[in-house]
Amino acid sequence: MLKIPPVTQSKLTKLGIHTPFDLVLHLPLRYEDETSITRVDDLVTGETSQVEGEIIHSEVMYRPRRSLICQLQDESGILFLRYLNFYPSQQKQLAVGKKIRALGEAREGYFGMEMVHPKCHAGGENKALKQALTPIYPTTAGLPQPTLRKYILAALNSEQLSDTLPASLLKKLKLRAFDESVKLLHNPPPQIDEAELLERAHPAWRRIKFDELLAQQLSMRIHYQKRHERISPQLLPRETLTPRLLQALPFALTRAQQKVLQEIKLDLSRPHPMQRLLQGDVGSGKTVVAALAALQAIENGYQVAFMAPTEILAEQHYLKLLDWLTPLGITPVWLSGSLKKKEKTAAAEKIAQGETQIAVGTHALFQNSVEFQNLGLVIVDEQQKFGVQQRLALRNKGVFDVGRASARHVGLKPDLQKNEPHQLMMSATPIPRTLAMSYYADLDVSVIDELPPGRTPIVTKLINDNRREEVFERVRAACLQQRQAYWVCPLIEESDLMEVELQNAIETHQQLSEAFPDLNVGLAHGRLPPTEKAAIMAAFKSGEIHLLVATTVIEVGVDVPNASLMVIEHAERMGLAQLHQLRGRVGRGAAESMCVLLFQTPLSELARARLKIIFENTDGFEIAQHDLQLRGPGELLGARQSGVAMLRFADINEDAKLLEAARTLADELLRDMPDVAQAHLQRWMANKPDFLHA
Ligand code: ADP
Ligand code: MG
Repeated sequence: MLKIPPVTQSKLTKLGIHTPFDLVLHLPLRYEDETSITRVDDLVTGETSQVEGEIIHSEVMYRPRRSLICQLQDESGILFLRYLNFYPSQQKQLAVGKKIRALGEAREGYFGMEMVHPKCHAGGENKALKQALTPIYPTTAGLPQPTLRKYILAALNSEQLSDTLPASLLKKLKLRAFDESVKLLHNPPPQIDEAELLERAHPAWRRIKFDELLAQQLSMRIHYQKRHERISPQLLPRETLTPRLLQALPFALTRAQQKVLQEIKLDLSRPHPMQRLLQGDVGSGKTVVAALAALQAIENGYQVAFMAPTEILAEQHYLKLLDWLTPLGITPVWLSGSLKKKEKTAAAEKIAQGETQIAVGTHALFQNSVEFQNLGLVIVDEQQKFGVQQRLALRNKGVFDVGRASARHVGLKPDLQKNEPHQLMMSATPIPRTLAMSYYADLDVSVIDELPPGRTPIVTKLINDNRREEVFERVRAACLQQRQAYWVCPLIEESDLMEVELQNAIETHQQLSEAFPDLNVGLAHGRLPPTEKAAIMAAFKSGEIHLLVATTVIEVGVDVPNASLMVIEHAERMGLAQLHQLRGRVGRGAAESMCVLLFQTPLSELARARLKIIFENTDGFEIAQHDLQLRGPGELLGARQSGVAMLRFADINEDAKLLEAARTLADELLRDMPDVAQAHLQRWMANKPDFLHA
């Protein structure tokens, strides 16, 4: 391998290249064809070609602006070369009489065929043409292509590129050899189908993508297996509390809720940590499943932490749990950042002394000052909003000495056995299958794929904001029928517009209060003190407030079945997940529900696409799938993103088939050929930081 000078290395580091093998995987963005010469006569407008000839004229012109204009002549004609920026050295290179090769896009210019800013170098009969397409790499300032190319070539020659997968497997999976594939991508032969390369559809690309996906699957599945070697309390279904809650509920669980509950019950009764992602569309009834899981932990004498990312959502859960659990003799304790210091201390005390079996709250739950006596289960709502580090912090709170806890319940010897709490993660936004299969492959996944019965589908309307007065009539009609309505004003947190937007909500509240003197119009926004916010939400819940004007604080978790109309202002500014979440706040009762999306024109292309999707789809999984296509996985992954290695080459939408094959093979390799799995991971993951379960 060539020695890389420190200056160059620092540039390479910027590109994420730390090792020689990283150079091998630094694949071209595109190619230039310097393998042949085109006659000036044969140039086609819009096509990039290489020509060769003699400079017969060279001149700096000042009109319309300073530029260097040269004429290059071959046996067929004359081509104009134009440079708007140029160095004296270029001027010298393009002096009259020089033999030049110029590579650029031909176009019809004022004087005839021309190239603007072509790449030029000295030509001549005895100068050999390139044998392969010239790769153009992603690079950074101060690292020219030829330098990068030199080191990549050196790495290709010096690195061990032998296959990590046995030939029999490659044959079965119809995959090309690895060395052949990378070499081809760095130096494709001239006759190759360039479009296939650029679209990453070529078999060589297929191999690289497969390897990347396989490495991701292997590392996720190893995490999965390792988890099953760690120890957690066995929380057996003792059925002392759960049947009592089930009996008290005004409804029966849906088939889908029963199915996921079974999965969770089984996980909890194993002596290894559960890490299960509970998915279900908005309104599918995840909370009651979580409550039943909590009861199973409590039945075994263990504590539960129930965490949500926002105060409003956490409080909703708290109130619901109070309602459900108090009759069973269980008193949830509330812990959030907004509590006064004294209240916080009192709550922490109850948790530490084991006086409470379930603590509900926000991030405050995993602060250092909070010690659980014997934490057995952590429930996290809207898991995508929490970072891996935060989840880890809670996991570590469960590491305690069983001797001190309820060893008699779990039948473990009261020694210094370390325990880890089980984790149930809920996702308010459905996660598309391919995303779940790739970035969540370390978790178990349960899906509630059915809504409770008796819900009527929500009708969605798109209405231009200049017709908002018409919407007032709908609001009045709904409220006159003893229904309630939301009027949502977007509030993009941390934006410069926040104050303006808040003002909008306040003004809208005023406008609506004037329009409906006979109705009680409330206002809720994030700046209200928590107690005031809670009072307003409670008044809305009890029906005292008919119309609630709110910023997006109500995005998640608000549950008022009597509300049947939702109006969303500036729907064009909102993301799909957010719109879907908001819309899911209505349609919770038996009444016909409607969601009006007010938009202002002109619409950006993205906004138009989003509105069309939300208008045409009601199924959260389908919406999430569209969202994945619009935005890519990074955004959907939220905080988890920082914990897992993102895919550089494969695209989980386009390469869904490869992903499935990689998933299957990963499990097979780990079972039957651990050496092969190890070698493959070594190649692909050797230097990747792994925060996932650090
Ligand atoms: P999400 O999955 O969006 O968190 P929730 O847990 O808030 O949904 O449930 C939405 C509403 O449906 C709540 O009012 C809840 O009490 C109710 N619910 C849950 N399960 C059922 C069921 N099986 N039958 C009828 N209503 C249900
Ligand atoms: Mg919920």
